[in-house]
Amino acid sequence: MMAEATAVFQERVTQPDDPIAALVRSMIEELGEDPGREGLRRTPERVADSLRFLLSGYGLDVEKVVNGAIFAESYEEMVVVKDIEVYSLCEHHLLPFYGKAHVAYLPHGRVVGLSKIPRIVDVFARRLQVQERLTTQIAGAVQGVVHPHGVAVVIEAVHLCMMMRGIQKQNSAAVTSALTGSFQTDDKCRSEFLSLIGRD
Ligand code: ZN
Repeated sequence: MMAEATAVFQERVTQPDDPIAALVRSMIEELGEDPGREGLRRTPERVADSLRFLLSGYGLDVEKVVNGAIFAESYEEMVVVKDIEVYSLCEHHLLPFYGKAHVAYLPHGRVVGLSKIPRIVDVFARRLQVQERLTTQIAGAVQGVVHPHGVAVVIEAVHLCMMMRGIQKQNSAAVTSALTGSFQTDDKCRSEFLSLIGRD
């Protein structure tokens, strides 16, 4: 997953006339800095590269990422992929929020390759986001791909826009969840999930 993403990142060589680089240069100037000084000279191109990578989810879709890795399987116990690293940008401040995602589903005749779950997370995390929507989009995507009895997604994340902007609750993490099917209707199913991710 990372190797492929990194390759895309390195291939791109942003030129100074790149529209995003030009905007970053203007922004640096408007903020009272000198875009021509040594340390900032290549910053607009680096920021443009970095933003394109961090927002590369717009160019991805779930079907392409899953790429047919769906397998008929009679296994009907809960599948949980926990502690998936999540890095996203909040759409209100363009500042990072990051943390862990836990994704579970209860198979119904088919499973998805385990390594695809973190990639599905990235399809949506690498966009301008709010944590709530990110959570439900991941759940909806897994539901649409595996058609399971139910999906559960929990994301715990800290938001730099809260931490860096002098808002008092600097060490608080936001926890969001999206539950569908059995995870919504069956208490046992939900508590098994919460216990597996250590939140019971
Ligand atoms: Zn924010």
